[in-house]
Amino acid sequence: MRRRASVWITGDQLLAGHPAVREAELEFGRDGIEIVLIESRARRSHFPYHRQKLVLVLSAMRHYAEELRRSGYAVDYRQAESISAGLIGHLQRVAPEKLYLMAASEYTARTFQQNKIPQIAKSVGNGSTQVTIVSNTQFLTGQFNPYPSPAGGKRVVMENFYREMRRHFGVLLEEDGTPTGGKWNFDEENRKPLPARLELPDPDGWEPDEITRKVMEEIDREEGGVGSTVGFRMAVTRAQAQEALDQFISRRLDKFGPYEDAMTSRSATLFHSLLSPYFNLGLLDPLTAIRAAEDACQQGRAPINSVEGFIRQILGWREFIYWQYWQQMPALASANHWQCQGSLPDLFWNGETDMNCLQQVIARVLRDGYTHHIERLMILCNFCLLSGVNPREVSDWFNAVYIDAFDWVVLPNVIGMGLNADGGRTATKPYVASANYINRMSDYCGGCRYNPKQRTGRDACPFNYLYWNFLLEHETELRANPRLGPAVLGLSRIGEDERRLISAEAAEFRKRQH
Ligand code: FAD
Ligand code: SF4
Repeated sequence: MRRRASVWITGDQLLAGHPAVREAELEFGRDGIEIVLIESRARRSHFPYHRQKLVLVLSAMRHYAEELRRSGYAVDYRQAESISAGLIGHLQRVAPEKLYLMAASEYTARTFQQNKIPQIAKSVGNGSTQVTIVSNTQFLTGQFNPYPSPAGGKRVVMENFYREMRRHFGVLLEEDGTPTGGKWNFDEENRKPLPARLELPDPDGWEPDEITRKVMEEIDREEGGVGSTVGFRMAVTRAQAQEALDQFISRRLDKFGPYEDAMTSRSATLFHSLLSPYFNLGLLDPLTAIRAAEDACQQGRAPINSVEGFIRQILGWREFIYWQYWQQMPALASANHWQCQGSLPDLFWNGETDMNCLQQVIARVLRDGYTHHIERLMILCNFCLLSGVNPREVSDWFNAVYIDAFDWVVLPNVIGMGLNADGGRTATKPYVASANYINRMSDYCGGCRYNPKQRTGRDACPFNYLYWNFLLEHETELRANPRLGPAVLGLSRIGEDERRLISAEAAEFRKRQH
């Protein structure tokens, strides 16, 4: 049968009711369209990706293609050297009147869609294929943008953004417009250290089926990459992603809030949801997760501080991060406010360090492709900013090793929030901390050869002299920041001799690292 239209769906757009399919179907009917998905070898070697991430994306794409076929769609599933090669092959065979796509979430991909795809369409067949790019529906800011054009690049604070989103979508809101529980923010009740005896849940897992096992074998045969496919147990279908959400709501949401910032060598996942890969691939709808958490609160299955904390992550942080990405690209990719030029130490690739917190967190990422947000922010990025690693080297590493990494989420989180390299547009202060914070929020320091209480000397924790050195180096600028000013005041208690020692030890440490 002649298909008059094609729809190209990328591997991170595995949406139910894909808007480009809907639009194509409206005009040409289900029988008149063919959907193309492309596994590109070039895209796969963009970074030395974690092998479990490759399994996740490829298996999810193949399951999605099956789901489409079962719903009666014609699907052209291609393996090609590059996206361009795959598309050219498809367009040559089908010669459609129209090619539909949904606007990509990532800057480079969207630029490719806007500039390169029309050229490809012109160069193939009789050159008359029209390209239609429909709006991206993967983010709630696609339905409502609280700050469509912030005046002259004025700073937008996440808290205000989040409240606007809650008002618009009517989330955790009483009939009179006041927030459920009497306040917008329950941070004070959250962020507790973990009690030593509290029992921790096991993460969920799904046995790999035949499709997944085949992908695992293929990835095992490929060279390069991080980690191993062994132990892959992630959800790869929409139904499994929904199960993952249900299990989080029933088993972990109640304790999510209090311990969302706690770190422990006993568990990588604690009470976190582990849902980010599914949101990012389009297998799970953010609003569905938000409503499920709200229902749990209304039915008394989870307390308001946990529910608000979880919803803040999705409706607040996740949407704000995507919004920031599009506000700041392409400059964000090369931002370097603190002029950090050091290279990423090898320990990020091999986990070899006697700093216990870093060693444990990096070992986790290299094994599972996952750590929770505080370990990403307050261990990894904190270390990189304090020791002066170039932001792009850090974000490339995050892009490679994390299972949920995509450019739109890595750049604002790493370059913006984690390294403060965007001059404070994503976060109002640099998230820097000494061992004091890590010792309070984790059990790592107990098993470490360094002393978290010592500022200088052979046994001093490197986070300490690096932290104080950062404050010394940037004292004038930091004093002007109301959120960091009080920390800088601590410098007045440090005498000249100790200042010199701090600078010398920090310089020596950096020399050894880079
Ligand atoms: P939970 O703690 O259960 O949170 C619930 C959901 O909130 C997450 O699934 C996620 O979708 C969303 N969320 C929370 N915070 C953020 C945020 N800052 N940005 C975007 N979404 C958020 N998230 C990614 O999806 N991919 C990344 O590559 C990534 N890199 C990060 C790098 C750094 C330096 C930092 C500080 C954060 C990063 N995040 C990233 C955000 C956050 O750490 C992860 O979304 C979260 O740890 C995923 O685990 P979870 O699903 O168990 O999250
Ligand atoms: Fe990390 Fe320092 Fe604590 Fe060791 S003492 S675990 S290096 S914070």
